[in-house]
Amino acid sequence: MAKEDLECSFCGRKKPETNLLIAGLDAHICDRCIEQAHGIVIEESKQTDNSDLSAELVLRKPKKIKGFLDEYIIGQEATKKVMSVAVYNHYKRLLQPPSDDDIEIQKSNIIMVGQTGTGKTLMAKTIAKMLNVPLAIVDATVLTEAGYVGEDVESILTRLLQAADYNLEKAEKGIVFIDEIDKIARKSDNPSITRDVSGEGVQQALLKLLEGTVVNVPPKGGRKHPDQKFIEVNTENILFIAGGAFDGIDRVISKRLNMQAVGYSASMSDNVVDQNHLLQYIIPKDLKDFGLIPEIIGRLPVLTYMDPLDAKTLRAILTEPKNAIIKQYKKLFEMDDIEFTITDGALDFIVGKAIEYKLGARGLRSLCEEILTDAMFELPGSKEKKLNVTQAYTEEKLTKTTIKKLKAVS
Ligand code: ADP
Repeated sequence: MAKEDLECSFCGRKKPETNLLIAGLDAHICDRCIEQAHGIVIEESKQTDNSDLSAELVLRKPKKIKGFLDEYIIGQEATKKVMSVAVYNHYKRLLQPPSDDDIEIQKSNIIMVGQTGTGKTLMAKTIAKMLNVPLAIVDATVLTEAGYVGEDVESILTRLLQAADYNLEKAEKGIVFIDEIDKIARKSDNPSITRDVSGEGVQQALLKLLEGTVVNVPPKGGRKHPDQKFIEVNTENILFIAGGAFDGIDRVISKRLNMQAVGYSASMSDNVVDQNHLLQYIIPKDLKDFGLIPEIIGRLPVLTYMDPLDAKTLRAILTEPKNAIIKQYKKLFEMDDIEFTITDGALDFIVGKAIEYKLGARGLRSLCEEILTDAMFELPGSKEKKLNVTQAYTEEKLTKTTIKKLKAVS
């Protein structure tokens, strides 16, 4: 066959009508058909991206979810278990086919109570990572009732849209982590206070979002104004996780337990109360007594708590999680062909300082940074290819003043 008689096997164009005609085994394809096919491939893969979520979710059972959390989060066994079930049920609800049996699975929004730095945010982040869904982390303290200085609660959804690159479908299956929820607790137990800008009003505004509703969201955030275009976001399938330190709630729990002990002396005296870990006894009523309104508590039906971090946990946080701090430094040094090791004594010393100065898990990173900055400055490009951090080395780098400085910024 003459060259000019060759044609595209897909569209039939003759070779002279094309810019390029590529030969296969016994067929040809022209440049235009390749471009068109490429477009189809992209479109198709976008669609599979969206259905990926469903496919993944069906596969991950609670034990698998917990296994994933274990890789990143040390301890917090009770919460990891509760979260795994809640997340599993939430997405099961999402995937349920429409049925006519009137049983509607309700949302399993979660509330986590625990001191700052115990891994609440990490928990939400890890779940979002596992599910590959967008995550918005918002601070409840910046929220105010509409009309007051601060951010409207809708701004939460603006953040989620941004995290989802404005893909509405993805955002509507995302996760919102509301930090410091305890800071919008009612300041006084007197419900007759009608204008409690930072507290009850915000809780009221949050209610609808938590429950599931269609909200007009300003795509770029900021205050709503009349000629702004809105995106309608349905919060029905968004998982809300709230977290807070609830300072002083242990007193509320203790008081309740003591009262119960009087009321049901026989049953309670059998169960010895662990006074150092009162959070494990938390019940929704304690949140109410702390100042959350009952409607909010009702819409955050899964209540769980975070254990304070002891030395053993802090030590494990340094070395064990998948992206543990020490593993990160090892990798950084490796990139410069430097072999980085650290002794048990040095690790214990760091943990000891974190506890002594109440720096928590967040402080571990800053402590390591203080210890290693000199080495990270000096070693790259030098002849030295090994760094062994001992306790003596650590003590030398961590003077009292450096730690005090860390304490001041933490
Ligand atoms: P919170 O939200 O409770 O204030 P974060 O989740 O922000 O605490 O935790 C602060 C940092 O401490 C995290 O980045 C993480 O590196 C570390 N961390 C805290 N708790 C744990 C834990 N249980 N397992 C692993 N790392 C933790």
